[in-house]
Amino acid sequence: MTTLTFYGGVGGIGGNQILLEDSGTRVFLDFGVSFSRLGTFYDEFMRPRSGGGLRDLLMMGLVPKLDGIYREGFLHLEGAEELLAKLGIDDRSYWVSELKSYGEVLKRDGKPWLSGVLLTHAHLDHCQYISMLDPRVPVYCSKTTKAILEAMTEMGRETFENELVIAKLRRIGYYNRGYFPGTLRVASERIQRKFMTFEPGEMFKVNGLDVETFEVDHSVPGTTAFLVTTSDGKRIVYTGDLRFHGRRAEASRHFRESLKDSRPDAMICDGARIKEVEKDSEQQVERECTELISKTKGLVIVGFAWKDLTRFETIRNAAHANGRIFAISPKTAYLLNKLGRRNEVDDESVRVYVRRAGAMLYSPGDYSYVKYAAGYSSDWDRHTDITHLKQGVRAYRIKAEPHRYVVHLTYFDFSELLDILPLEGSLFISATSEPFDEEGRITEEKIKAWLERFSINTPGFEPVYVHASGHASGLELKEFIHDTKPRFLFPVHTEHPELFKGLAEQVFESIEVGKSYEL
Ligand SMILES: [Zn+2]
Repeated sequence: MTTLTFYGGVGGIGGNQILLEDSGTRVFLDFGVSFSRLGTFYDEFMRPRSGGGLRDLLMMGLVPKLDGIYREGFLHLEGAEELLAKLGIDDRSYWVSELKSYGEVLKRDGKPWLSGVLLTHAHLDHCQYISMLDPRVPVYCSKTTKAILEAMTEMGRETFENELVIAKLRRIGYYNRGYFPGTLRVASERIQRKFMTFEPGEMFKVNGLDVETFEVDHSVPGTTAFLVTTSDGKRIVYTGDLRFHGRRAEASRHFRESLKDSRPDAMICDGARIKEVEKDSEQQVERECTELISKTKGLVIVGFAWKDLTRFETIRNAAHANGRIFAISPKTAYLLNKLGRRNEVDDESVRVYVRRAGAMLYSPGDYSYVKYAAGYSSDWDRHTDITHLKQGVRAYRIKAEPHRYVVHLTYFDFSELLDILPLEGSLFISATSEPFDEEGRITEEKIKAWLERFSINTPGFEPVYVHASGHASGLELKEFIHDTKPRFLFPVHTEHPELFKGLAEQVFESIEVGKSYEL
């Protein structure tokens, strides 16, 4: 028997957590965070408690209540029972969960309950809560996706939610320093999570499941779609997130061609832009940016996600066409280096923007908390690297000759404007999607305030949006589904599942969370 159970990815965009079960083998198709669910309760400054760990996420419905998948230390702190008995605390519920951990079920059954996660790409709405899974659960992803997850971990804050490639095993310990030596604390030991990586196009097996992998085009490199064939020959297509209009569009087209008339039993399909008729185009973004830059006398500032290397290439080309130096975010440079593309930061036409940090003196020691901002190493115990500090572009250079630069800054980097001091007549291009929720609109107001403060985008101080989405348009999706001819169609990652009506023999327009659908 083959079933699909949707714990996330329905009723809104993102947060895909889809369980595929086939005669005793279970894999999750992605295990991400639903930003809409998270945003219902939390915001930037009101995060799930780091010490609260998995319990907080379970109670707020951000991850499913399932036995046999989670990390031991998050469910049952090792040694907690005895200690609490000794301490005379009767209520153990904070420290001892009713759920059984991956390890407990493995011990009880002699085999793991969960055999792996098939991860499509390194966006948090698809991967974030892998951090909650037992580190022995293999994560199957492309080599590129693994490299991006490493970059995120190495540059990100060390929170429990960010333990994507490492896991800190938690147990009861004792403070040996500080004000109360000898009292209880949670000690942790850092270990590597288990990954099984592949090159797109490679096939592999997870017990009785045959998994085919396809590179697809999306707004982050390394994105993969899956075709899973079960032990009794059922075929399930999982598109992940995809588009047909980026620089890797031919990969998505190859995926579509491979599935033509394949009549899979189920197709789980990205529907983020099912409502849109218009096809986006990355080439159009490049043309528009080239034109906008050519009309600007002062500095050009462009905002886009640091992981979006397609957009990096687009802006690089547009800057190059105008004879300008592209000063990129050190995070983008770090990722390029990880992916073996360091030569693309040639320190002439593409350079790294190096900001002031710490004591704000451009002194190497200033960067000990943001090592990636100074160079390519995040581990100075192994080796120090201050390449950017030596070869990158500093604010005062841009301030002196703004017309020679295109600088990569998002709203979160806008404090740099205080050092760059752009002159009137400078341009800000937001190469990201326009705000689609309340939080986005609030941020846009702040962006406008910054633009007004520095007389950027005069008159009006409106950000100039130039963007092509990471997702296929409705027209393209309908064509894709029509060609593939699935028996069951499960729209996910969409606010409009009803628009999939009639596209397959049976369309599940209102998928129930936690209900198992038999194929
Ligand atoms: Zn995505």
